[in-house]
Amino acid sequence: MSNKKILILPGDGIGNEVMAEVLKIIDWMEKTKSLSFDISERLVGGTAYDKEGNSISDETMQVAMDCDAVLFGAVGGAKWDNVERDKRPEAALLRLRKDLDLFANLRPAVVLDALSDSSSLKSDLVKGLDILIIRELTSGVYFGQPRGISKISETESKAVDTQLYTTSEVNRVSRVAFDLAKLRNNKVTSVEKSNVMETGLFWKQTVTDLHKKEYSDVNLEHMLADNCAMQLVRYPKQFDVILTDNLFGDLLSDTAAMLTGSLGMLPSAALGPVKENGTRAAMYEPVHGSAPDIAGQSKANPLAMIMSFAMMLKYSFDMQEDSQMVEKAVQNVLLKGLRTADIKDGAEKIISTQEMGNAVIEELKILSGN
Ligand code: NAD
Repeated sequence: MSNKKILILPGDGIGNEVMAEVLKIIDWMEKTKSLSFDISERLVGGTAYDKEGNSISDETMQVAMDCDAVLFGAVGGAKWDNVERDKRPEAALLRLRKDLDLFANLRPAVVLDALSDSSSLKSDLVKGLDILIIRELTSGVYFGQPRGISKISETESKAVDTQLYTTSEVNRVSRVAFDLAKLRNNKVTSVEKSNVMETGLFWKQTVTDLHKKEYSDVNLEHMLADNCAMQLVRYPKQFDVILTDNLFGDLLSDTAAMLTGSLGMLPSAALGPVKENGTRAAMYEPVHGSAPDIAGQSKANPLAMIMSFAMMLKYSFDMQEDSQMVEKAVQNVLLKGLRTADIKDGAEKIISTQEMGNAVIEELKILSGN
């Protein structure tokens, strides 16, 4: 019996095209490495709304709860813009995050040698860059109550959002950051606005206390969020792991992402609490959306999806060697000058989504001797 139960949710638009390339890699791994994954595939997003009446059905949610990891493509598209809010494609993503309690969002920003000229920053500033941003994903100002818009008088209204964090919410995401830093360069930069926000002061104090009690062997520094935004574009290589809340993480991870060049290259993971049997709920997805402008044209770059799968091998299945082999295969393909249109920056050959997937498999064959 396989202990690698994966739920595949391709979604809408290019989600289907990029997921198909991962399924080819899974197939190759099963055939050549005698591995066995237990795969279920279901609908999500607008496609699920059209066929099942909701962007994620209760049955699909149940499969997600029972599996070891979810691999998610992308959802959305103009066709569903007027669907009621709780059934829109994006609602499926929020439900998965909420019901699986995926509180730690891992967003690597890695600049591969072959693409160091694709960044908007000078190549020497980003060459070799390897940052991991850990964003708290299920609390903070996006979820805090009270929230809403109300009338104060005939002429005045007010809007309220609430930024709220508890000790255990800060501790659990900080533990993820400290544990992962130990596997990297052993440095965590905790980011908040302790100069002007109570929650910032609380975040800083809570991280400091946890560090003192459990992680004094990890280097910890604190940084204000505005300074962090500036440092990310001034001298990004100073960072190893950045730990931050939901709102600042949203902004800083997109800034860091752009240091690397293209949306089509960015994987992500979202992890839940560790269960009694030692496993944890997890979902892996590329950062990009369903890209309706190029959907169905074989132009989508499948590498972000393929590297999300590599993250799954690493974080959910402890298959470090296989994960590194997939990452290496991606690097080698790029070093050979093969490019989808989004990452073309010179005279390289432009290839289709399917050709890129095939090229990664060819590299895997070379790397594994199969
Ligand atoms: P997008 O990420 O889909 O596309 C932005 C631009 O990047 C487009 O020009 C697109 O062609 C390009 N692009 C994105 N991924 C690419 C890839 N793999 N290869 C090559 N080019 C790629 O963002 P958008 O256009 O703002 O949103 C489109 C739809 O996707 C919307 O409905 C939005 O709500 C949804 N969306 C979904 C997710 C998700 O499912 N996690 C994330 C972001 C946006």
